Amino acid sequence: MTSLFGQPDPAAPPPRPGPGSRFASVVLHRGIEHTPAKSPAPPAARPSHRSAPPSSTSPGAPDAAFTYFIPAGMPEPLPGQLVRVPLGKANTPTSGIVLQVGDAALLGDLPPAKAKPILELTPARINPDLLALAQWLATYYVCPLGMVLQTMLPAAVKKQIGRKRILRYTPLPPSPTTAPAEAALTKPLRAALARLRALPESDFPAEPAALRRLAAISSPSVKRLHAAGLLTESADDTVSARAGAFGEEASTPPPDANAAPAPPAPRLTPTPDQARALASLVPALGSFSAHLLRGITGSGKTEVYLRLIEHLLAARPSATAIVLVPEIALTPQTSRRFLDRFGSGSVAVLHSGLTQAQRNAQWTACAKGQVRVVVGARSAVFAPVPTLGLVIVDEEHDSSYKQDQLPRYHARDVAVKRAHLANCPVLLGSATPSLESWANTRPHSPSTPRARYHLHELTTRAGNARLPEVRIVDLLDERRARAQQPGGWRDRHLHLLGPTLEKAIARTLADRGQVMLLLNRRGYANYISCPDPNCGWVMHCNHCDATVVYHKAAGVDRSGVPIPGGFVRCHHCLAELLLPTACPTCARRPNTFGLGTQRVEEELQRKFLPDFGITIGQTLLRLDADTMTTGADYFHALDRFAKGEVRILLGTQMIAKGLDFPNVALVGVINADTALSLPDFRAAERTFQLVCQVAGRAGRADRPGLVIVQTASPTAEPIVLAAAHDYTTFANNELACRAAVGLPPIGRMARIVCRDRDLDRATAHAADLAHALTEARDALPDPQSVRIRGPMPCPISRIDDHHRQAIELLSSSRGTLQGLLAGLRAQGLLLSDTHTAIDVDPIALL
Ligand code: ADP
Ligand code: ZN
Ligand code: ZN
Repeated sequence: MTSLFGQPDPAAPPPRPGPGSRFASVVLHRGIEHTPAKSPAPPAARPSHRSAPPSSTSPGAPDAAFTYFIPAGMPEPLPGQLVRVPLGKANTPTSGIVLQVGDAALLGDLPPAKAKPILELTPARINPDLLALAQWLATYYVCPLGMVLQTMLPAAVKKQIGRKRILRYTPLPPSPTTAPAEAALTKPLRAALARLRALPESDFPAEPAALRRLAAISSPSVKRLHAAGLLTESADDTVSARAGAFGEEASTPPPDANAAPAPPAPRLTPTPDQARALASLVPALGSFSAHLLRGITGSGKTEVYLRLIEHLLAARPSATAIVLVPEIALTPQTSRRFLDRFGSGSVAVLHSGLTQAQRNAQWTACAKGQVRVVVGARSAVFAPVPTLGLVIVDEEHDSSYKQDQLPRYHARDVAVKRAHLANCPVLLGSATPSLESWANTRPHSPSTPRARYHLHELTTRAGNARLPEVRIVDLLDERRARAQQPGGWRDRHLHLLGPTLEKAIARTLADRGQVMLLLNRRGYANYISCPDPNCGWVMHCNHCDATVVYHKAAGVDRSGVPIPGGFVRCHHCLAELLLPTACPTCARRPNTFGLGTQRVEEELQRKFLPDFGITIGQTLLRLDADTMTTGADYFHALDRFAKGEVRILLGTQMIAKGLDFPNVALVGVINADTALSLPDFRAAERTFQLVCQVAGRAGRADRPGLVIVQTASPTAEPIVLAAAHDYTTFANNELACRAAVGLPPIGRMARIVCRDRDLDRATAHAADLAHALTEARDALPDPQSVRIRGPMPCPISRIDDHHRQAIELLSSSRGTLQGLLAGLRAQGLLLSDTHTAIDVDPIALL
């Protein structure tokens, strides 16, 4: 018999479909769809036997699957199975996913003789739930189905990295058919066979190692007996290298993974808030419903997740819960809580530090139903668990849930759909829910009076912790206060820390407390310009319509003095240049202005080295994308902060997420205005979330916390309300503002960005698209229901030498908007390709 996953014999004549042949429609994994009207694909790239599209969600769309026949002797593939098929004139083997299996009717108009055979079946398979989810995703996000399926199967799974084949053997009983072979055996082999047959039947099938142990038979002897036809062989594919917590079994384990296991934490008694939330969540297990858990920072949301999962597993021991967390929150701290509660054998932690083999092993364990809890970032929403019982999305407002490349999905929204398809509840949790989720807890309109999500609230911190006091300080007042200090007018240093924050840091350090400081800007200075106001030169990236950021050379010398020099980097295309020594127009020496974490780092050392021994890299750590290049860096840093070696943690929004350190007595926001001024309708929401979240890091235990927020807009509503910990007022006001102008989440938005190296081509392409969209809109029964804005240049009109033009579509009805886009897509007028990005529910508008 040919083996299940065997390769076809290359010398054999190409198989042909016979009268009873079975067929399969297969969606190919192709990165980018071809635009039939504009750039016809070369013939070689197209299967010659394209047939009627399968029951895909948008007939005629470029998702059309191709039909292949199943050669005689090959087992029938299952829907969702990964197969290899020939593509084009050259019959290039290409991978794809089986959508449907059936008879010749799948071929449509194509004569059966023209169909090509499936080349190979692989053990990787997307389960039926996920196949349905993929079809929903392709329709919702207007993107190619092949692309979505590609995303669902990690590369490690497609390539079967780490897969091992285990062979097992069983002896055949003596019979007339085995007699000739037995007679031909050497004496020792005949004795070996006899020893095997004497073993109890329950020992078989057995691996060679077991046979050596049980009957003293060497592997070569086993091979020879098998070759003589006296042992049958069975193969089993397994994937080794499972990893539990972050870094376990990984090549570079972060410190925490090697630490001795902590003693089991005492079981907490739920707070009244937690008990109330659980009382209403537990009965929801068992069927679909959507829930939002709004719990202030430190209110113990994780404990609610853990207990809800316990209830799930008590009722259905074979069910699985998926828990999504932002990638950066996948710290040992978070993972440990799940591992400790459910045991490392039942928990899969999917994080970016896994090796390919570990990733495949985790995926396979999920698919086999061996895992009870999956904890992972965005893509874990596609974890192939067969018996999904609960989906949890922690920090559901986090923007890292949105993928910014094809397919541009939002894992929170996909999570809701996945739960719906699996008929289980979904729980979204946050201290500062996205307005999208908040809006879903409100009655929608007179026609849909019931809220779509159930709301549960945790309004007090767990244990003895209190919400910290938040003090807003006006940067203008701070500057005046500084000037009035003795010698203040002579002080030529740049101060990003005002006197209030400075004093608070000194007091906290003196009290042995720890400090966290947030500044959402990397580098040293984000503005390089000519000092001569008459010249006005400002350094821009050569490839982007954006200013560049000055980064000082990394590190300090032995005496703690920063190493001189540095470079200039564009944060959009990552191009790097040297810092110019002279203005290109008037030759004066340029100034470096503006904010950056590196500059704060220098200022902290300058101010706190003498009294508190604060030194860069020792007692002061900077956490941003420049210093934290791997997951292990991040864990090392947090570990040192947890141990108290580091006294001040300075960072970008990386430090605002989910960290729980009891000794943090002071949190400082260096400048709350960085997000406020962005040209994005979510600027206020982002600012509110950031200030609230980072403030939430203070006062998480018995020690009272203080938060100081420096701003030039001390009366701005998001800042004032975040300082008052008043989410509800903020959210309701902001929702009313959005509703008044039809912006999300009240209105639905889709954004199309056209990009081209040639400005005229980008503009013409965008104009054509806008024209087609307008025509399609005008043909709707209610053309007023969709607004089209643009084409217009994007706020960053050029990135990496590509000019960018945007078209925004807004509608009060998501269905109408999607119908419009799907219609154009079906006609081939709107396709995702290198020049066109379609973003449904966009969250970044730059
Ligand atoms: P959140 O995610 O809501 O910010 P966490 O789940 O991180 O909060 O919990 C904050 C802290 O409160 C943790 O240290 C946790 O151990 C503690 N905690 C949670 N629930 C309880 C409880 N019922 N009693 C005492 N402490 C609790
Ligand atoms: Zn650039
Ligand atoms: Zn100049």
